[in-house]
Amino acid sequence: MHEQQHGRSPQPMAMDRRAVVFAGLAVAFDVAVPIRVLAAREVRTIPILAYHRFDPSAPGPTTVTIRTFESQLHQLAEYGYHITRLRDVVAASRDGGGETTRQAAITVDDGHRSVFTVLFPLIRQHRTPVTLFIYPSAISNADYAMTWDQLREMQASGLVNVQSHTYWHPNFKIERRRRSSENYRAFVDDQLQRSKATLEARLRIRVDMLAWPFGIVDADLEAAARKAGYAAALAYRGGPMAPGADLLALPRIPVGDTDRGMRFAALIGATGPVAAWR
Ligand SMILES: [Zn+2]
Repeated sequence: MHEQQHGRSPQPMAMDRRAVVFAGLAVAFDVAVPIRVLAAREVRTIPILAYHRFDPSAPGPTTVTIRTFESQLHQLAEYGYHITRLRDVVAASRDGGGETTRQAAITVDDGHRSVFTVLFPLIRQHRTPVTLFIYPSAISNADYAMTWDQLREMQASGLVNVQSHTYWHPNFKIERRRRSSENYRAFVDDQLQRSKATLEARLRIRVDMLAWPFGIVDADLEAAARKAGYAAALAYRGGPMAPGADLLALPRIPVGDTDRGMRFAALIGATGPVAAWR
Protein backbone atom coordinates (compact mmCIF):
# COMPACT_ATOMS: atom_id res chain seq x y z
CA MET A 1 0.00 0.00 0.00
CA HIS A 2 2.69 2.46 0.96
CA GLU A 3 5.35 1.57 -1.49
CA GLN A 4 4.93 1.99 -5.18
CA GLN A 5 2.96 -0.72 -6.88
CA HIS A 6 4.47 -3.03 -9.39
CA GLY A 7 2.26 -4.51 -12.07
CA ARG A 8 3.46 -7.78 -13.47
CA SER A 9 1.96 -10.22 -15.89
CA PRO A 10 1.40 -13.84 -14.87
CA GLN A 11 4.33 -16.19 -15.34
CA PRO A 12 3.66 -19.07 -17.72
CA MET A 13 4.43 -22.48 -16.25
CA ALA A 14 6.35 -23.39 -19.40
CA MET A 15 9.27 -21.26 -18.22
CA ASP A 16 9.77 -23.61 -15.26
CA ARG A 17 9.95 -26.65 -17.48
CA ARG A 18 12.41 -24.98 -19.80
CA ALA A 19 14.64 -24.17 -16.82
CA VAL A 20 14.55 -27.77 -15.70
CA VAL A 21 15.45 -28.94 -19.22
CA PHE A 22 18.29 -26.41 -19.38
CA ALA A 23 19.63 -27.48 -16.00
CA GLY A 24 19.43 -31.09 -17.12
CA LEU A 25 21.38 -30.30 -20.32
CA ALA A 26 24.04 -28.45 -18.35
CA VAL A 27 24.59 -31.52 -16.19
CA ALA A 28 24.44 -33.88 -19.18
CA PHE A 29 27.16 -31.97 -21.06
CA ASP A 30 29.26 -31.44 -17.93
CA VAL A 31 29.91 -27.73 -18.31
CA ALA A 32 31.23 -27.71 -14.76
CA VAL A 33 34.10 -25.24 -15.08
CA PRO A 34 32.30 -22.02 -16.11
CA ILE A 35 29.36 -22.95 -13.90
CA ARG A 36 31.54 -23.29 -10.82
CA VAL A 37 32.81 -19.75 -11.42
CA LEU A 38 29.24 -18.46 -11.61
CA ALA A 39 28.29 -20.26 -8.42
CA ALA A 40 31.29 -18.86 -6.54
CA ARG A 41 30.30 -15.35 -7.57
CA GLU A 42 26.69 -15.96 -6.54
CA VAL A 43 27.14 -16.94 -2.91
CA ARG A 44 28.28 -13.42 -2.09
CA THR A 45 24.93 -11.75 -2.81
CA ILE A 46 22.06 -12.08 -0.35
CA PRO A 47 18.46 -11.39 -1.35
CA ILE A 48 16.57 -9.47 1.35
CA LEU A 49 12.93 -9.89 0.38
CA ALA A 50 10.37 -7.15 1.17
CA TYR A 51 6.70 -8.05 1.69
CA HIS A 52 3.68 -6.07 2.90
CA ARG A 53 0.39 -7.98 3.12
CA PHE A 54 -0.83 -11.54 2.93
CA ASP A 55 -4.13 -13.15 2.05
CA PRO A 56 -5.25 -16.79 2.08
CA SER A 57 -6.13 -16.65 -1.64
CA ALA A 58 -6.75 -13.12 -3.02
CA PRO A 59 -3.64 -11.42 -4.45
CA GLY A 60 -3.24 -7.62 -4.62
CA PRO A 61 -0.63 -5.08 -5.71
CA THR A 62 1.32 -5.61 -2.46
CA THR A 63 -0.57 -8.69 -1.23
CA VAL A 64 0.88 -12.17 -1.55
CA THR A 65 -1.28 -15.30 -1.22
CA ILE A 66 -0.41 -18.27 0.97
CA ARG A 67 0.15 -20.38 -2.13
CA THR A 68 2.67 -17.91 -3.58
CA PHE A 69 4.49 -17.37 -0.29
CA GLU A 70 4.87 -21.11 0.20
CA SER A 71 6.03 -21.56 -3.40
CA GLN A 72 8.69 -18.88 -2.78
CA LEU A 73 9.85 -20.62 0.42
CA HIS A 74 9.95 -23.91 -1.46
CA GLN A 75 11.93 -22.38 -4.32
CA LEU A 76 14.43 -20.76 -1.96
CA ALA A 77 15.00 -24.15 -0.30
CA GLU A 78 15.24 -25.91 -3.64
CA TYR A 79 17.86 -23.39 -4.78
CA GLY A 80 19.87 -24.01 -1.63
CA TYR A 81 19.05 -20.75 0.17
CA HIS A 82 19.01 -20.78 3.95
CA ILE A 83 16.63 -18.16 5.36
CA THR A 84 18.65 -16.30 7.93
CA ARG A 85 17.80 -13.67 10.52
CA LEU A 86 18.21 -10.19 9.04
CA ARG A 87 20.56 -9.23 11.87
CA ASP A 88 22.95 -12.05 10.89
CA VAL A 89 22.74 -11.15 7.20
CA VAL A 90 23.62 -7.53 7.99
CA ALA A 91 26.55 -8.67 10.15
CA ALA A 92 27.76 -10.90 7.32
CA SER A 93 27.67 -7.96 4.91
CA ARG A 94 29.46 -5.68 7.37
CA ASP A 95 32.16 -8.29 7.93
CA GLY A 96 32.73 -8.76 4.20
CA GLY A 97 30.68 -11.83 3.35
CA GLY A 98 32.48 -15.09 2.78
CA GLU A 99 29.40 -17.25 3.33
CA THR A 100 29.68 -20.73 2.04
CA THR A 101 25.93 -21.26 1.74
CA ARG A 102 23.34 -19.20 -0.07
CA GLN A 103 21.47 -16.99 2.38
CA ALA A 104 18.28 -14.96 2.14
CA ALA A 105 16.31 -12.83 4.59
CA ILE A 106 12.60 -12.01 4.82
CA THR A 107 11.31 -8.58 5.86
CA VAL A 108 7.73 -7.33 6.10
CA ASP A 109 6.87 -3.62 6.23
CA ASP A 110 3.99 -1.65 7.76
CA GLY A 111 2.44 -4.02 10.35
CA HIS A 112 -0.70 -4.97 8.45
CA ARG A 113 -2.96 -7.27 10.50
CA SER A 114 -2.63 -10.05 7.89
CA VAL A 115 0.96 -10.39 9.06
CA PHE A 116 -0.48 -11.80 12.28
CA THR A 117 -3.50 -13.65 10.89
CA VAL A 118 -2.00 -15.13 7.70
CA LEU A 119 1.81 -14.96 7.78
CA PHE A 120 2.45 -15.83 11.43
CA PRO A 121 0.91 -19.35 11.24
CA LEU A 122 2.96 -20.02 8.09
CA ILE A 123 6.29 -18.98 9.55
CA ARG A 124 5.58 -21.03 12.68
CA GLN A 125 4.85 -24.02 10.50
CA HIS A 126 7.97 -23.55 8.37
CA ARG A 127 10.16 -22.18 11.23
CA THR A 128 11.06 -19.16 9.10
CA PRO A 129 12.74 -16.14 10.73
CA VAL A 130 11.18 -12.81 9.72
CA THR A 131 11.90 -9.16 10.52
CA LEU A 132 8.93 -6.77 10.75
CA PHE A 133 9.38 -3.05 10.13
CA ILE A 134 6.73 -1.22 12.14
CA TYR A 135 5.66 2.42 12.44
CA PRO A 136 4.30 2.60 15.98
CA SER A 137 1.68 5.33 15.39
CA ALA A 138 -0.51 2.74 13.60
CA ILE A 139 -0.23 -0.09 16.14
CA SER A 140 -3.40 -0.67 18.23
CA ASN A 141 -4.70 2.43 16.45
CA ALA A 142 -5.33 2.07 12.71
CA ASP A 143 -7.93 -0.55 11.79
CA TYR A 144 -5.65 -2.20 9.21
CA ALA A 145 -2.76 -2.60 11.64
CA MET A 146 -1.74 -5.15 14.25
CA THR A 147 -2.01 -4.58 17.98
CA TRP A 148 0.82 -4.37 20.51
CA ASP A 149 -0.33 -7.72 21.96
CA GLN A 150 -0.08 -9.35 18.54
CA LEU A 151 3.43 -7.96 18.07
CA ARG A 152 4.40 -9.24 21.53
CA GLU A 153 3.05 -12.68 20.71
CA MET A 154 4.97 -12.80 17.45
CA GLN A 155 8.15 -11.54 19.07
CA ALA A 156 7.81 -14.18 21.83
CA SER A 157 7.82 -16.96 19.21
CA GLY A 158 11.52 -16.35 18.68
CA LEU A 159 10.94 -16.28 14.92
CA VAL A 160 9.93 -12.64 14.62
CA ASN A 161 12.06 -9.59 15.23
CA VAL A 162 10.40 -6.17 15.28
CA GLN A 163 12.34 -3.14 14.05
CA SER A 164 11.62 0.48 13.08
CA HIS A 165 9.89 1.96 10.03
CA THR A 166 9.91 5.53 11.52
CA TYR A 167 7.12 6.77 13.79
CA TRP A 168 4.36 7.53 11.31
CA HIS A 169 5.74 6.59 7.90
CA PRO A 170 6.29 10.08 6.43
CA ASN A 171 7.45 10.80 2.91
CA PHE A 172 10.72 12.58 3.69
CA LYS A 173 10.91 14.16 0.22
CA ILE A 174 7.57 15.90 0.75
CA GLU A 175 8.37 16.87 4.33
CA ARG A 176 11.68 18.41 3.28
CA ARG A 177 9.91 20.58 0.69
CA ARG A 178 7.28 21.91 3.05
CA ARG A 179 9.38 22.54 6.15
CA SER A 180 12.24 24.92 6.93
CA SER A 181 15.61 23.12 6.98
CA GLU A 182 15.82 23.40 10.76
CA ASN A 183 12.27 22.17 11.23
CA TYR A 184 12.85 19.31 8.78
CA ARG A 185 15.95 18.13 10.64
CA ALA A 186 14.07 18.14 13.95
CA PHE A 187 11.19 16.27 12.28
CA VAL A 188 13.51 13.57 10.92
CA ASP A 189 15.23 13.15 14.29
CA ASP A 190 11.87 12.83 16.02
CA GLN A 191 10.58 10.22 13.53
CA LEU A 192 13.70 8.11 13.91
CA GLN A 193 14.13 8.44 17.68
CA ARG A 194 10.47 8.20 18.75
CA SER A 195 9.92 5.03 16.75
CA LYS A 196 12.95 3.34 18.26
CA ALA A 197 12.12 4.47 21.80
CA THR A 198 8.46 3.42 21.52
CA LEU A 199 9.20 -0.04 20.12
CA GLU A 200 11.91 -0.63 22.72
CA ALA A 201 9.63 0.40 25.60
CA ARG A 202 6.49 -1.40 24.37
CA LEU A 203 8.16 -4.65 23.32
CA ARG A 204 11.26 -4.65 25.57
CA ILE A 205 13.57 -5.28 22.63
CA ARG A 206 16.65 -3.72 21.08
CA VAL A 207 15.85 -1.64 18.01
CA ASP A 208 18.82 -0.70 15.84
CA MET A 209 17.54 -1.44 12.34
CA LEU A 210 15.32 0.78 10.22
CA ALA A 211 13.45 0.47 6.93
CA TRP A 212 13.20 3.80 5.09
CA PRO A 213 9.54 4.67 4.27
CA PHE A 214 9.02 4.50 0.49
CA GLY A 215 12.71 3.60 0.28
CA ILE A 216 13.58 7.32 0.39
CA VAL A 217 17.14 7.80 1.67
CA ASP A 218 19.97 10.28 1.15
CA ALA A 219 23.20 11.25 2.93
CA ASP A 220 21.42 13.56 5.40
CA LEU A 221 18.93 10.85 6.34
CA GLU A 222 21.73 8.33 6.76
CA ALA A 223 23.53 10.74 9.11
CA ALA A 224 20.34 11.21 11.10
CA ALA A 225 19.85 7.44 11.36
CA ARG A 226 23.40 6.98 12.60
CA LYS A 227 22.86 9.71 15.18
CA ALA A 228 19.60 8.10 16.35
CA GLY A 229 21.43 4.83 17.04
CA TYR A 230 20.61 2.72 14.01
CA ALA A 231 23.32 0.29 12.94
CA ALA A 232 21.60 -0.64 9.67
CA ALA A 233 18.84 0.77 7.47
CA LEU A 234 17.14 -0.69 4.44
CA ALA A 235 16.05 0.79 1.15
CA TYR A 236 13.12 -0.71 -0.75
CA ARG A 237 14.73 -1.68 -4.05
CA GLY A 238 18.16 -2.49 -5.42
CA GLY A 239 18.29 -6.26 -5.94
CA PRO A 240 20.31 -8.81 -3.99
CA MET A 241 22.70 -7.36 -1.40
CA ALA A 242 26.41 -7.56 -2.21
CA PRO A 243 29.08 -7.55 0.51
CA GLY A 244 30.28 -4.10 1.45
CA ALA A 245 26.88 -2.53 0.68
CA ASP A 246 26.06 0.79 2.38
CA LEU A 247 24.79 -0.37 5.79
CA LEU A 248 22.38 2.57 6.01
CA ALA A 249 20.82 1.98 2.58
CA LEU A 250 20.89 -1.80 2.15
CA PRO A 251 19.09 -2.95 -0.99
CA ARG A 252 15.96 -5.08 -0.83
CA ILE A 253 13.76 -6.91 -3.32
CA PRO A 254 10.02 -6.12 -3.31
CA VAL A 255 8.09 -9.34 -3.83
CA GLY A 256 4.63 -9.65 -5.37
CA ASP A 257 2.15 -12.41 -6.01
CA THR A 258 3.26 -13.05 -9.60
CA ASP A 259 6.85 -13.65 -8.54
CA ARG A 260 7.00 -17.39 -9.01
CA GLY A 261 9.21 -19.74 -10.98
CA MET A 262 11.82 -18.15 -13.24
CA ARG A 263 10.54 -14.66 -12.45
CA PHE A 264 11.29 -15.20 -8.75
CA ALA A 265 14.65 -16.82 -9.59
CA ALA A 266 15.63 -13.74 -11.61
CA LEU A 267 14.56 -11.41 -8.80
CA ILE A 268 16.68 -13.12 -6.17
CA GLY A 269 19.66 -13.35 -8.52
CA ALA A 270 19.73 -17.14 -8.67
CA THR A 271 20.71 -18.89 -11.87
CA GLY A 272 19.11 -22.20 -10.95
CA PRO A 273 18.62 -24.94 -8.40
CA VAL A 274 21.87 -25.48 -6.56
CA ALA A 275 21.91 -29.20 -7.44
CA ALA A 276 22.32 -28.30 -11.13
CA TRP A 277 25.59 -26.49 -10.45
CA ARG A 278 27.47 -29.19 -8.60
ZN1 LIG B 1 6.17 1.13 4.41
